[in-house]
Amino acid sequence: MLTVHLIFEARKPMSEKTLFTKIIDGDIPGDFVHKDDSCFAIRDINPQAPVHILIIPRKPLVGIQGASREDQALLGHLMVVAREIADQEGLVEPGFRLVINAGDQGGQQVPHLHVHLLGGREMQWPPG
Ligand code: AMP
Repeated sequence: MLTVHLIFEARKPMSEKTLFTKIIDGDIPGDFVHKDDSCFAIRDINPQAPVHILIIPRKPLVGIQGASREDQALLGHLMVVAREIADQEGLVEPGFRLVINAGDQGGQQVPHLHVHLLGGREMQWPPG
């Protein structure tokens, strides 16, 4: 069901609310770990590691591929918030990974920019 939903999400017109905008607006539930004026963070519904959190700008950029110089401060903010959440989750000392998937070949399923924070296990490289 999740795959079907995500395929539908990727094909819908951008004039509609994105999945993540629906979550921050309270239209559908989310497990929030952070909220501020420009971004929020939720636990991923299908975690790929013991800690898997998505850091998401309120601005519904289609992805990092849709960002421009005017988004520079916002992008920096997402990184700082990701680092703060990593600290809250006890991941700074053991280590963690931040991932941004971009476009079809990048493995992006939800067309609203988000940073994956992954931790709590040994990460592999190359990521596949
Ligand atoms: P990406 O493939 O980079 O676009 O990542 C999208 C992520 O959103 C995936 O890791 C999904 O598991 C996650 N996801 C999809 N729906 C939800 C939801 N309702 N709540 C939390 N995470 C979700």
